[in-house]
Amino acid sequence: QLTDLHDSVVPKVREFLSRPKKLFIGGQWIDAASGRSFETIDPATGQVLTTAAWGEAEDIDRAVKAARTAYEGEWSLWTPAQRQRLLFQISEKIYERAEELAQLEALDNGKSVGVAQAVDVTCTAELFAYYAGWATKIEGRTIPVSVPWAPGTTWHAYTLRESVGVCGAIVPWNFPLLMAAFKIPAALACGNVVVLKPAEQTPLSALLLAEIMAEAGLPDGAFNVVTGYGDAGAALASHMDVDKIAFTGSTEVGKLVVDAAKGNLKKVSLELGGKSPQIVFADADLSTAIPGTASGFLFNHGQACTSGSRLLVEDSIFDEFTQGVAEVAKASRIGHGFDPEAEVGPLISEEQLTRVTGYIDAGLRDGARALSGGGRHGTDGFYVEPTVLVDVKDDFSVYREEIFGPVVVATPFNAERGVITQANDTPFGLAASVWTQDISKAHRTARQIKAGSVWINSHNAFDAALPFGGYKQSGWGRELGEGAIDEYTQTKTVNVAL
Ligand code: NAD
Repeated sequence: QLTDLHDSVVPKVREFLSRPKKLFIGGQWIDAASGRSFETIDPATGQVLTTAAWGEAEDIDRAVKAARTAYEGEWSLWTPAQRQRLLFQISEKIYERAEELAQLEALDNGKSVGVAQAVDVTCTAELFAYYAGWATKIEGRTIPVSVPWAPGTTWHAYTLRESVGVCGAIVPWNFPLLMAAFKIPAALACGNVVVLKPAEQTPLSALLLAEIMAEAGLPDGAFNVVTGYGDAGAALASHMDVDKIAFTGSTEVGKLVVDAAKGNLKKVSLELGGKSPQIVFADADLSTAIPGTASGFLFNHGQACTSGSRLLVEDSIFDEFTQGVAEVAKASRIGHGFDPEAEVGPLISEEQLTRVTGYIDAGLRDGARALSGGGRHGTDGFYVEPTVLVDVKDDFSVYREEIFGPVVVATPFNAERGVITQANDTPFGLAASVWTQDISKAHRTARQIKAGSVWINSHNAFDAALPFGGYKQSGWGRELGEGAIDEYTQTKTVNVAL
């Protein structure tokens, strides 16, 4: 249901929304085994946008079989150079269809079309290009050995980097296309095949991606999409013929995935939640640190795993700094993804709206004070006001738990006592940022923080080449960069008695 909000939706997206959305299995578009479909909602209006096929365990099984057939069949004959060419072609086609992908993502997720195009779609295309390059550069080593109990024998020992096999990918709704792209190109570059289960809130961009990949020459079954709910994800995680599962989502579900994977001890990588600190020293350049930290928690309306949701500010500048951040928050224009001026969009769902406003209410009840925001915005769609909370104690739920909305808690730290204990006082360890003009202090602090990514004088600065993942309960393994090649290959040692 498109409203006049959506005047600028291009005909191709209108056409995509109007046709039935099926599962993509073995290179074919097919209905779910049950014949059922589910609705996906436009978070800017709360209205049904369209429907998608409701995949369940039986459909996961069909997709895994198709993937296995491809893995052992045609795909196994593809050379690294052919995989490289395919991934480059997919990247090019993503750029060609960037507007369509961005509009679809904005409609399904609520994010701004401009951000979707500049961040989600561009990074997705770049990831396909980056891993295209890797396809021809995955090498083993020759290793000098001397087996002690076989004196006199000469050995020729080497390693082969081999693919893992059928890889399941389960992704969340906050960056639907991009989180899939954190997995698919790396997996394919290494010679694996993929079954993707997108989030039930945002099934659409994965289907358009499948269409694009098929047009680029993907062999049947090398990439499959099963849209559906958590039970489909659980079926993929527990499937006995899946060799690896890559999961992005909540820490709670990540633990279920680990349990489900036990049956065949498939390899597991996890990108989970966070409660990332943004540490601001008194010597920071406030003209960049104030807007920078504000955008650190407002990016994607706070629905980012790396959201800088704890602001730790040196006490001597605390009041001035938090007032500045609150001013930026108040001035941020709230609006739907098709409003080019909008900076803060709707949350993904009514459930998420209730959850985020519930956290804010609990924080205020506990004794926190809102310097900006503090509740829902408007009555249509799922908008929350950008909220800066102060007077927060370290046992408040707003301080400890991941909120996943445009909410930051600000607490002061004392220069004498330092900030590291405070920064690391969380079960999570996904990311952090450090804001200072003192180069030694910046690097020293970065080393002491227990998190997978630390940004200095910036927040949320990603690149395809930079390994990304969590310490502690924020995950296992690394995506992006060379780290992902390790996740999607296994090493075989060959030792030859010459
Ligand atoms: P979620 O864990 O509820 O769902 C994620 C995916 O898992 C969805 O596709 C869902 O259908 C599926 N799922 C649900 N139950 C399952 C089960 N039992 N077995 C297998 N799959 C199941 O997370 P969400 O609410 O969609 O996303 C928000 C969370 O994702 C936040 O905690 C956020 O921090 C995290 N996240 C992390 C990263 C990262 O890279 N670290 C990136 C984005 C989001």
